[in-house]
Amino acid sequence: MHVLVIGAYGSAGAAAAEVLADANVDVTLVDDGDPGGGLCILRGCMPSKELLGAAQHRHQAREDPRLDADITVDVADVVARKDDHASEFAAHRRENVHELAERENVEFLHERAEFVDDDTVRVGERTYEPDYVVLATGSTPTRPDLPGLDDVDPMGSADVLDATEFPETGVVLGFGYVGLELVPYLAEVGGMDITVIEHDERPIDRARPEMGDALLDAYREEFGVEVLTNTEEQCVEPDGDGVRLTVERDGDEQVVAADRLFCFTGRDPAVEGLSLDAAGIDSNRGWVDGETLRSRDHPRVFAAGDVTGERMLLHVAKEEGATAARNVLADWRDAPLERYDPITHRVVFSAAGVYPYASLGMTESEAEAAGHDVVVATREASDDGIFRLKRVPRGSAALVVDAADGTVLGYHGVHYEADTMAKTMQVVVANEMDVREVPDRAYHPTTPEILDGLVRDAKSEL
Ligand SMILES: Cc1cc2nc3c(=O)[nH]c(=O)nc-3n(C[C@H](O)[C@H](O)[C@H](O)COP(=O)(O)OP(=O)(O)OC[C@H]3O[C@@H](n4cnc5c(N)ncnc54)[C@H](O)[C@@H]3O)c2cc1C
Repeated sequence: MHVLVIGAYGSAGAAAAEVLADANVDVTLVDDGDPGGGLCILRGCMPSKELLGAAQHRHQAREDPRLDADITVDVADVVARKDDHASEFAAHRRENVHELAERENVEFLHERAEFVDDDTVRVGERTYEPDYVVLATGSTPTRPDLPGLDDVDPMGSADVLDATEFPETGVVLGFGYVGLELVPYLAEVGGMDITVIEHDERPIDRARPEMGDALLDAYREEFGVEVLTNTEEQCVEPDGDGVRLTVERDGDEQVVAADRLFCFTGRDPAVEGLSLDAAGIDSNRGWVDGETLRSRDHPRVFAAGDVTGERMLLHVAKEEGATAARNVLADWRDAPLERYDPITHRVVFSAAGVYPYASLGMTESEAEAAGHDVVVATREASDDGIFRLKRVPRGSAALVVDAADGTVLGYHGVHYEADTMAKTMQVVVANEMDVREVPDRAYHPTTPEILDGLVRDAKSEL
């Protein structure tokens, strides 16, 4: 059997490549990345967290009245260090892929791939008729359909990661996870006055309302960001060296003037140039079966990672890559396909990572929709003295528990160190622990005491 993996330098493609190489089938790995290393390493998770680290340190020092903190960030140094790390990690990823290609059953081509018809893929100058294709080409930023956008040269997340100079003011479209992470960076490190256009009443639809509200308060009060909620952009136009964005708010038209427009408006599957239509594949939303990762239009094409258009997260890309590869092998043997059904595990490094949003497992409404009767325990971070002592009192957490048998179904929080607590709660949720068996005495005083409070409240309600 011969399998072609398109996007082998990416997280999903690299994971698929390993499984297939180990299975001793013939594998052709393809990636035209320059330098190559995948989004997470080059322009995603890792570089953004390095920049946020600088923002977090400055922010916490500045917010602490006990410190005489007039801190200037050397942005050129922040970006240079980020570039060094990205180069190092990307080289490591490429080396791993090239090492796989030293095996007899594996080859690597630093080329672009494109479908010719439903059996044939062109890779550079060559053509292949593989038995299966694993498509792992990632995603590209979504360009909003906004009149005037072509005239104003907006900045996206990749531009922000490389910027060493910032204008004084900016207006932001997109307050999903990328916007929630980069807006505090622009304000704290870039020193910018930022206005955010938020379509809804608060960010993060999935979070409980009080959590979204806590973030709004933090952005407004601690980062000086103006968030215009229930507001829709209408059109944009150049205004001297800056931009004028017309918005509609509560039925009224309003103009926001700024030096620069930023678009953090999501990502689309990277399918341009692949000629999927030549293989009879329609790549519109839902083009891949989310469980088997098989294309709905082509039984010998599997997909993994951002290109599926769903769950665009790093750990999901890796798990999907391995699952897609195992399903290729299963299909070849006529065995049943594995069904990928991840427990939701999501972290947004909001408020410069000081007040991250973490969500693990089911929300209350998801649990109810799945037929559970639920007990929900909630706790304010400020109820635990340690959050006040550390001067990070905002936010809250919630635990969703099955009322019938005590199984912990979900944990959700916007509070200091919620990102690391998500791992503890992953263990609890993935192992379907009964809340009455979860230890409820963390070392005192530590921030996981917020989890103890949730566990005790849920136990007593049961
Ligand atoms: C600013 C930002 C921050 C993020 N932060 C986080 C985070 O904190 N946590 C998290 O879980 N996720 C985060 N993500 C998302 C995460 O980076 C992606 O979900 C993940 O990297 C996707 O991996 P992938 O393998 O699907 O795609 P990629 O890593 O993009 O790999 C795709 C590969 O395909 C290759 N390719 C594309 N087309 C072709 C072609 N025609 N021929 C040959 N090769 C091709 C490319 O060169 C590339 O190497 C972030 C994303 C962004 C933008």
